[in-house]
Amino acid sequence: MNAVSEAPRVWVTTILFATTALAALILVPLYGLLVGYHWYQWLAFAVYGALCGLSITAGYHRLWSHRTYEAHWSLRLLFALFGAAALQNSVLVWGSSHRRHHRHVDDNDQDPYSARRGFWFSHIGWMLRDYPSGRENFENAKDLQRDKIVMWQHNHYIAITLAMNVGLTFLLGWVTGDIIGMMLLAGILRIVVNHHTTFFINSLAHMWGRRPYTDENTARDNDLLAFFTFGEGYHNYHHIFQTDYRNGIRWYHWDPTKWLIRSASWLGLARNLKTVSDIRIQRAMLTMQFKRAEQKLQGSTHKESWRELLEKEAQEFSAALGEWKELQSRRYENARERLLARWESAAIRTRVKELEYSLKMQRKRLQIMMEQFHLCPATA
Ligand SMILES: [Zn+2]
Ligand SMILES: [Zn+2]
Repeated sequence: MNAVSEAPRVWVTTILFATTALAALILVPLYGLLVGYHWYQWLAFAVYGALCGLSITAGYHRLWSHRTYEAHWSLRLLFALFGAAALQNSVLVWGSSHRRHHRHVDDNDQDPYSARRGFWFSHIGWMLRDYPSGRENFENAKDLQRDKIVMWQHNHYIAITLAMNVGLTFLLGWVTGDIIGMMLLAGILRIVVNHHTTFFINSLAHMWGRRPYTDENTARDNDLLAFFTFGEGYHNYHHIFQTDYRNGIRWYHWDPTKWLIRSASWLGLARNLKTVSDIRIQRAMLTMQFKRAEQKLQGSTHKESWRELLEKEAQEFSAALGEWKELQSRRYENARERLLARWESAAIRTRVKELEYSLKMQRKRLQIMMEQFHLCPATA
């Protein structure tokens, strides 16, 4: 507690967050009441907000922090410009601290925005004081330092962010005839909304939601947050499979960042999109289901027959995983020695698909088992 209160204040960020928030809360509605806003100012707010938000999620986060795909220089330039407009520091600073967040998640001494230090700290408090856990260290970002666009943005960050925030909104206002109105909506309000929706991923997405893939860290999947954060709310999935360019993996998951990256790949602007195999995803989900089933059975008095069923399923699960691992190693070994005949590689693929399907069915069976257990735990 002492270390927290003793950390020296960072005045630049404190003043920046306080003045933009106060202006958004007081000046923006006041100007609306006294003068009023035009539809095109709201449109500029939405379009500019989306460009900045997506530059953070698709650029800063999934491209630079996690290398989940490769992007053409023109796309990287766009992300660097609108990412700077979002006022969340340079790619280099953002990416290296985000990598530390993943590596040391929930470790109060090393995770720069550990959710275990509370909502306020993980949301914004970590940037308001110079905590040892948040000190800049680019040791883990050598690859970013080799990216010319990243370094250009880092070295000229203040000039770029002024040009993108003050310059561009001033210009838009001047062209449309109301400089103050445009700067309030497309400038101030857009920055504050962008800030807090991004910050929610570090705070709320580590506190509120479900954990279908792992409970080894605090990250949660939350559809509502995903809606407001261009798909970043599937944070439980993201923390276990951070090399996947998707965060919402189902077709019905709201993940505009994933759609943007995929569309960019169709246009030739992105390539080498990485995904995690379905069988690894099924394995993570089943492991969690077994864990939860075990916990439920532990509290029950009439549990023998349920336990037998569960053990049978567990054996099937580990047999399927064993076979999958063997198929993987056979595939890698043969591929290395270039011996794999085409028919054999097709046979392995088919078998992996069958295993995937059997794990999916097993998840369904476990689900039904647990529902029935809920209905009649005493008679079992
Ligand atoms: Zn991440
Ligand atoms: Zn996180």
